[in-house]
Amino acid sequence: MALPSGEIVSRPMVVRACGHEQEFQYYAVDKYRAQRLAKFQKTRCSVCVEKLNEEQQKAAAAAPSKGEALAMLPLGTQITLTRKPDGNWAGTMTSDGKTVESTGEGAQGLTVALARLWLSTHGTPGLALKPPAPAAKPAPKPVPTARPAPTLRPR
Ligand SMILES: [Zn+2]
Repeated sequence: MALPSGEIVSRPMVVRACGHEQEFQYYAVDKYRAQRLAKFQKTRCSVCVEKLNEEQQKAAAAAPSKGEALAMLPLGTQITLTRKPDGNWAGTMTSDGKTVESTGEGAQGLTVALARLWLSTHGTPGLALKPPAPAAKPAPKPVPTARPAPTLRPR
């Protein structure tokens, strides 16, 4: 897309995707003004883009680390990784009866991505902080049967 040139002939206020108005610059020479305007209207204003970036950075900082994510998964979690013909990996993680799927270039990265995906969609916040469930009571000893064992008769 060629860059517009010449003087700015008009600066109308245009509502962007986030609902805020922002100045759109009309250049004297601009072959692609319609496309630029359409893109301008479909995207967020610069303030909202900045906010969004900040939120994403915060979310990334708050996300559990690789080790934490894996440690937070419930016991019994199963991971299946399959190397595909294109060299990428396809992964499935099933835990607690819930399955998530993803693909990635590296098996290790994919494992962590699956763990984070599972935790973000099905995980219980604070799950890892709960004390482990008490061990199940040992099964009662079988009561000996009153019936005497059948006597073996020679054939
Ligand atoms: Zn905005």
